[in-house]
Formats: sequence, structure tokens, C-alpha cells
Amino acid sequence: MKPFTYIVPKSLDEAKEAAAQPNTLVKGAGLDIVDRMKERLQTPQNIVNLLPLKADLAGISVEANGDVRIGALTTLTEIENHEAMRDPVFTALVKAASTTGTPQVRNRGTIAGNILQFTRCWYVRSEAFHCLHGGRGPTCLAMTGQNRYHAVMGWSDCVRVHPSNVAPPLLALDAEYSTVIGKETRRRKFSELFPAEPRAENPEHTLQEGEIVTAIHIKKQAANVRTAYAESREKESFDWATTACSVRIAMDGNKIAAADIVLGAVAPVPMPRPKAAAMLIGKEPSKRLFLRVADMAFQGAAPLAHNAFKLPIGKAVVRDALEQATR
Ligand SMILES: Cc1cc2nc3c(=O)[nH]c(=O)nc-3n(C[C@H](O)[C@H](O)[C@H](O)COP(=O)(O)OP(=O)(O)OC[C@H]3O[C@@H](n4cnc5c(N)ncnc54)[C@H](O)[C@@H]3O)c2cc1C
Repeated sequence: MKPFTYIVPKSLDEAKEAAAQPNTLVKGAGLDIVDRMKERLQTPQNIVNLLPLKADLAGISVEANGDVRIGALTTLTEIENHEAMRDPVFTALVKAASTTGTPQVRNRGTIAGNILQFTRCWYVRSEAFHCLHGGRGPTCLAMTGQNRYHAVMGWSDCVRVHPSNVAPPLLALDAEYSTVIGKETRRRKFSELFPAEPRAENPEHTLQEGEIVTAIHIKKQAANVRTAYAESREKESFDWATTACSVRIAMDGNKIAAADIVLGAVAPVPMPRPKAAAMLIGKEPSKRLFLRVADMAFQGAAPLAHNAFKLPIGKAVVRDALEQATR
């Protein structure tokens, strides 16, 4: 690891000022950053530790209008255990958080850090490979190399996948996020956090250098909204998902009145599948319907040499999430 200056701000203003310096990274728990620095994938001059600002930037609160605010430094364990998260609207978010990594990872890892983590592609994560996304080579080595865990859709010149468990449920809930940078405070749709057409040259997210995420906001949902999250993994211990799906369903009597479906771990960004979701509207839940919807969710997928297994497994994961949400 190369030497760097470790900055411990006393206030958000101090953190903003420090984050505005060139070649500076802000840090939550540091689980992902430290890995990247050890590999010399990133060699920042300054690290701004946000953890002393937990009093302002962590915790879950229900606002007067019923909207829920989750501070950026809230840990995954806090999400799993918080009283406000017992609402069935948050079933998917709680499941996604509680199936992330190990208890140690969840006790330390923050929600912002989970969403903003770097891809797990082994070519970009090792300095030895001349990878396009890492800015070290002319092509995406995974496209023709070992691509078992890579994208099956949504890619152009780089087949990395977005690894975050909690991003798909937040997208399905149409969440928003707040940031600060300089004198500005911004609040945007969660979907804007990811590049619309992710290319190798794009980072995993659209934040500007020096921009600090302060909170995630989830609008009060209708009483008939249910959510679910399902994923597949290579093994049942700590492991990133090979495919994931989060759904939000609103029932009207025995018919589906509204639906959102978002896939994870299959593309460089979390992938909303609006055409598949539209097939559910006005219909009664059934195994036959869910089979067709799952097929549609993977329509247009283009598997690589070693990851065609993601299609049948991913479709089963979509069906699983739909069945859980309509049970
Ligand atoms: C063994 C292991 C297993 C894992 N399994 C899974 C898994 O199954 N699913 C999954 O989704 N994840 C998994 N993870 C990833 C883990 O959840 C994340 O690494 C962790 O949540 C990152 O949080 P952090 O606070 O440590 O982030 P950091 O490492 O501190 O930061 C990560 C990134 O986010 C940026 N960042 C952090 N906070 C802010 C902020 N407030 N504003 C702006 N930028 C910010 C940092 O600059 C950095 O780029 C696993 C990790 C390990 C070590």
C-alpha cells in the first residue's frame, strides 16, 4: 500500500472540504477501499474517514409524512434489525442486507459503501491484467477469458457486473439519495446513481469526485405494497450473488395492480426490467404467468462462453422473488 494522508473530519463541512482535494477518497468502513489500495488499484493521496460523522450520517428514521431516511453510514446489520424495517415494504431490503457477506462484513459495512463498491471482476481487481475498465489495457479480458461470473446483459465494451445486494431493492422501491459537494446539496432518483449506458470508461456510479452521499430516502409506500429479494450463489457461505432479483408488487384484491422487477449481478449496473413487470399488471399471480415474466426478464440476454448457466438460474430467482411477494 502506498503512503497516504488519513483525514478525520470533525464535521460534514470539514469532510466536504477535505473530499474536494485532488486524488482523495472518502471512506465508510473501508472494507472495499482497503482491498483496492492493497492491490494498488487505487493509490489516493488522501483518505477522508466519514465514520466520526455517524451521529449525522447514520441511523434510520421515519419522517412525519411516513417517508423513511437511511443515513449513508448505517450498517447492513442496523438495516436488518431496525424496528422501521419490519414493515413488509422493506422485506426485500432486509433480506438483501442480511444475506450480504458475513456477520463481520454486515456489522461494519455501510449501506453507501455497499452500493458504491467496486466490481468483483478478477481482471480489473488484479494489477497484473491489462484490463480496459482499469485503464490498463485495450480490451475487456473477461469477454474472451474466464467469464463465469460476468454480465449476460446490458454491456457494451466491458462485461463486469454490479455486485451490490442492496441496490436492486432500492431501485425497485424508487428510492432517492442525497449528496453534498462544495456548497451544494443534491437529491436525485436512485436510478441516476448508475451510468445509463455503462461502458468500460465509466466508474460504477455517477458521483462526482468529492461528492459525499449523506442519505437514502424511501417514500411512504401504499399499504398494499409487498417486496421480495432472491438470489443464487455458488455456495451457501459468504459469496457474492451469481444472479439476484428484487420485486415490488402492489395487489388489488387478487390481481396485481403495480409491479417493478430489478435484476442484480447480471449486468454492469442493476437492471430494471419494465417490460417483464408490465406483463404482471391486471393478472392473478400464477406459476404459468411467472414463467413467462421470468423469460421476459432475460429477453435479449447474451451470455458469454462460461456464464450461460445464469439464464435458467436467474429466471428461477425471478420466479422465486415473485412467488414470495405475492404469497
Ligand atoms: C468477505 C466479503 C463478502 C462480501 N459479500 C458481499 C455480498 O454477498 N453482497 C454484497 O453486496 N457485498 C458483499 N461484500 C461487499 C461489502 O458489503 C462492501 O464491501 C461493504 O458494504 C462496503 O462498505 P464500506 O462502508 O466498507 O465501504 P468503503 O470500503 O468504505 O467504501 C466503498 C466505496 O464507497 C465509497 N463511499 C463509501 N461511503 C461513501 C459516502 N458516504 N459517500 C460517497 N462515497 C462513499 C468509497 O469511496 C468507496 O469507493 C462483501 C465483502 C467482503 C469483504
